[in-house]
Amino acid sequence: MRIIDLNKTREIGSQCMYLEAGSFKILLDCGMSPREEGYKALPNFSPIDGKAIDIIIISHCHLDHIGSLPFFMKNQQQARILTSPGSHIIMPRILENSVTIMAMQREERGIKEYPLYSVSDIKNLDQHILPMSHAKTRTLQKGGDEINITFFSAGHVIGASSVLIEHKHRTLFFSGDVLFRNQKTLKGAMWPKKKVDVAISETTRGNHGHRKNFSYQSEIDSLVSRIKNTIEGGGSALVPAFALGRMQEILKILHGARAQNKLPKNVPIFCSGLGLGLVDDFDIASKSLRCIDFRSAILRDLKVKSFRNAKFDKLRQPTQPSIFVLSSGMLVENTPSYTTAANLVGDAKNSILFVGYCDPSTPGGELLAQEKHSLFNFKALRLSCKIEANIEHFDLSGHADREDLIEYIFGLNPRTIILTHGEVESRDWFFDSIIDQRPKTVILDPEPGVWYDV
Ligand SMILES: [Zn+2]
Ligand SMILES: [Zn+2]
Repeated sequence: MRIIDLNKTREIGSQCMYLEAGSFKILLDCGMSPREEGYKALPNFSPIDGKAIDIIIISHCHLDHIGSLPFFMKNQQQARILTSPGSHIIMPRILENSVTIMAMQREERGIKEYPLYSVSDIKNLDQHILPMSHAKTRTLQKGGDEINITFFSAGHVIGASSVLIEHKHRTLFFSGDVLFRNQKTLKGAMWPKKKVDVAISETTRGNHGHRKNFSYQSEIDSLVSRIKNTIEGGGSALVPAFALGRMQEILKILHGARAQNKLPKNVPIFCSGLGLGLVDDFDIASKSLRCIDFRSAILRDLKVKSFRNAKFDKLRQPTQPSIFVLSSGMLVENTPSYTTAANLVGDAKNSILFVGYCDPSTPGGELLAQEKHSLFNFKALRLSCKIEANIEHFDLSGHADREDLIEYIFGLNPRTIILTHGEVESRDWFFDSIIDQRPKTVILDPEPGVWYDV
């Protein structure tokens, strides 16, 4: 097998690797970088120019894994897209939302190449999709060549999958983004008990150890009590959350807390559009996929309102204490969470409570790194605000803890481990830990754009 990393940098960006197994030409994910704009946000497709791709594997529907797919498919009409039924359901909504955002950015920032694809390009994907139920192997043929592909549940978000590829006597396992712990809305990953030759592992949490006595439930309890204290103190709480996954998880947490009287009754809860739209998809998916536990009745019980209906006074404060669960999770510029953070940050009564990964280069990452009482520059709004609100991070990540992940990877007993989807210091932690524990393992932290035989 030959492999090349089409990510442009060793970071979490536009996740995309290309693999050749015999005569099969395979793309592993086709993402778009959240920290770049225009063509720069695409993977570097130039090393595979002129190749007719047979199989595109989509591990899940976060944009860093799927955002470039309709663009890439314009010239790859022969390719088949393998993805899970859960991802198949939510894919159009995620990508259409991305078209809307790109169209907006074209207007606001003059990015001429946006949108990079259209709604009809997204509709065109459907005829190429081969749904892959978890733990069921599919055999694909090409000439006299044959390949076996099996998807496994990866936890993380609805539809997320890890993928086993078997060609002749060679086996490769791709983790995708993975979480082994059960969430409130989704069961944890179910990996095969099997030996593989090569494992490609995400490394998101390599730069993040847990403090002592950490538990998911205790982190949830702290988040809920912080929201309660904020509201009771006359302030509002903003929880920035990825529309896919985190937002539904937070709503389920709020639902449980309210049922146990841990949150004041009648506090309005506002959510942004994509997250609310995805709830309908969750409803459809949860009827056929038993691993998902989220029903739209939760929205009705909580009387969740659309963010468009939220009211602010002349000082840009909410007209009554409110809970905002808004995307983006990293306060990307001009999103509902970004503008709401700008409104709330200057008042000590308010709280901004992060619940997931924040890239250090995004406004969310920058806000978390800054001191209280210092000035924070909301560049897109041309607004500087003194940080007075309570800013906190709660560890409700959708990614596996590094110690868990390395143990599961070792469980596959791979001869070669390829590191991906992590910042440099995260990859370094995995590199060092693997060397320490399994010195005979071949470890690749691939140079982007360089071919490797594996
Ligand atoms: Zn993801
Ligand atoms: Zn990712």
